[in-house]
Amino acid sequence: MSTNRTTSRPSDVFIEEDEVTRNKRGIPWIRLEQALHTEGCPLCHLVMTEARKHLTSILHEYVLDVSVRKKLHASFGFCNDHAWLAREVESELHSDGQHLGTLHESIIQMETEALRKAYAMGRDEGAKRRALKKVGLHPIVRRVIEAITPGSECFLCRSSRATGRFYASQCILMCCDNDFRTLFESKTLLLCRRHFKTVLLEAHELNAVDYFVSQQIAKVERLSAQITLFLERHAVERRHEPRGTEWHSWLSALEHCSCKNGVDRVCEPGVLYSPIKKGTNR
Ligand SMILES: [Zn+2]
Ligand SMILES: [Zn+2]
Repeated sequence: MSTNRTTSRPSDVFIEEDEVTRNKRGIPWIRLEQALHTEGCPLCHLVMTEARKHLTSILHEYVLDVSVRKKLHASFGFCNDHAWLAREVESELHSDGQHLGTLHESIIQMETEALRKAYAMGRDEGAKRRALKKVGLHPIVRRVIEAITPGSECFLCRSSRATGRFYASQCILMCCDNDFRTLFESKTLLLCRRHFKTVLLEAHELNAVDYFVSQQIAKVERLSAQITLFLERHAVERRHEPRGTEWHSWLSALEHCSCKNGVDRVCEPGVLYSPIKKGTNR
């Protein structure tokens, strides 16, 4: 029996052990290990890091790449989070905006053309209809809205979800490893709700589900106690008490509920939201 396992299934101990040992020599583990040394959600950290790297590489080398431009045209630009992350990366490259200007030039040209065409079509179709609010949308409104509605989501949102799923599967693979557990069980780490779900959905063994759910319960309980303490220490008679980690608990709660700042908020249908039940608040 391996010494670096705390739970195991006798039939596949050796297969898993080999895979875990092999994985520890790879780059994904190095990156996951680095993320496990940070605070908050390690998957949010990895998603942000990868998105920043991806953007740096695009702005540095691929602004004229046809596939990048196609993807960006399909979504009519980046989503809000990735647009402003792109601006940060542009500044880090000491650029005056030339890269993002190049990427957006053809999007704006495309939009201008689409607007002109849609307006002309809508005008023709609505030639006999003067009232805006008759039945349904006026053809001009409908055509123009159709013309400026993207056919695809921001491709960095898509790749961020893939990154999240990839590192979630790494967590699952490594969850029997003592090094992983020591780092993961740190009090400063807490998977955000979204990435906790991603990890669970990647699990294919009950051992892993048991481990991550029990860890999450303990960590969320700790956060709950910290928020209560934080608020109690606002009472006049307790204001003199020294401030501890509970003073950041509200920020941890914000991150837990909504991911780290800048992680895309586009959710996968049916995965991140549970179905709305009649008569209940979600
Ligand atoms: Zn997260
Ligand atoms: Zn995005």
